[in-house]
Amino acid sequence: MLLAQGRDHLAIPGPSVIPDRVLRAMHRPSPNIYAGELVKVAASVFRDLKLIAGCSGDVAIYHGNGHAAWEACLCNMFSRGDRILVLVTGRFGDAWLQMARDLGLDAQVLNFGTEVPVVAEKVFEALEADNGHRIKAVLTVQTDTATSSTNDIPAIRRAMNQADHPALLMVDAIASFACEPFHMDAWGVDMLVTACQKGLMTPPGLGILFIGERAWSAHRQADLNTPYWNMLPRVKPSMFPEHFCGTPPTSHLYGLREALDMLLAEGMENVWARHRVMALCVWHAVDVWSEEGDIKCQIAQTYHRSMAVTTIQTALGDASRVRAFCETHLGVTLGMGLSLQASAPPVDQLFRIGHMGHLNPPMLLGTLACIDVAFKHLAIPHGRGALDAATQLISEHATTSRI
Ligand SMILES: *Cc1c(COP(=O)(O)O)cnc(C)c1O
Repeated sequence: MLLAQGRDHLAIPGPSVIPDRVLRAMHRPSPNIYAGELVKVAASVFRDLKLIAGCSGDVAIYHGNGHAAWEACLCNMFSRGDRILVLVTGRFGDAWLQMARDLGLDAQVLNFGTEVPVVAEKVFEALEADNGHRIKAVLTVQTDTATSSTNDIPAIRRAMNQADHPALLMVDAIASFACEPFHMDAWGVDMLVTACQKGLMTPPGLGILFIGERAWSAHRQADLNTPYWNMLPRVKPSMFPEHFCGTPPTSHLYGLREALDMLLAEGMENVWARHRVMALCVWHAVDVWSEEGDIKCQIAQTYHRSMAVTTIQTALGDASRVRAFCETHLGVTLGMGLSLQASAPPVDQLFRIGHMGHLNPPMLLGTLACIDVAFKHLAIPHGRGALDAATQLISEHATTSRI
């Protein structure tokens, strides 16, 4: 007998669950790509993305995933040999760093390990030590999807201002965008990088850059810039397809339009509050599991954690047993553990729960219940009553709008 019939649930931190409404919106014949409805849809997508980002600047969309958006950002901003400061809090920061080095940038690193977010004081010190202002930009993630730590972006900006350093601030919010607040203008972020397959609930395929005014001055000098990555014609096209350097991602634009309709109808404050309840629900469950055995959240402080993904530690080997059992026997797929270095193999001591995007209590409670089943079936020591804690939390917040 196999219980895993019915609808499979993907609880990895991206791609996230795609709403049926988004799938239906994408299922249509190819539109005219020079004029008509698609042109209006794209304009409204640009407008609403900026609304969610708190961005009054420009936005460019690339056919591509998050890595494409990373490369677009680097190529539009820098020349070979430029010095940058990369803040690493897990595998994703490290992978962006490796990409920058492979492109020929002179990357200085502040590595904060895998258990805490960026310490703004260290950023201040590194910038203060840079007397000649050689560092052109500070690069950081908002959430590192491997460790599930979340950085305080305004605190990093404050540290940069305190050091009176002119470097630009570039932030990868691929995991966190539309899951927790981002206010690009207000936070003094010069470039924001994201993608459509996590909080934006659309199949992988769109990399997105939000471009602040100061980023354009760096762009003019960037010798890594190439015709395809060049963001200038993408934001100031002479004809519509130049937004995409050729044929637009037609179905994806319709899908993203539908996803944005869903988010804006819910209201971003509510979207963020819902993610907060989901995250708290996971953490309450983990707190109870951790009362016995070796289970705990990788990030100790709740205020350092992500609203979109939680990384859970187990005894060595247990994480992959739990993941395999959940996927094969229960129909829920959990995220695997990723180590710090981009090149290292998966970690047998970590698994991750994605709680981003199109998610409600039955989906999340179902996931937590299945993990609880796995602990029992596999005789992994764990505290009893995690589901009770999770349902208690949801019952307390089911009708509140602010938490
Ligand atoms: C998912 C993710 C990426 C990579 O995106 P891909 O679409 O897999 O290229 C980069 N950074 C963060 C923080 C992510 O969560």
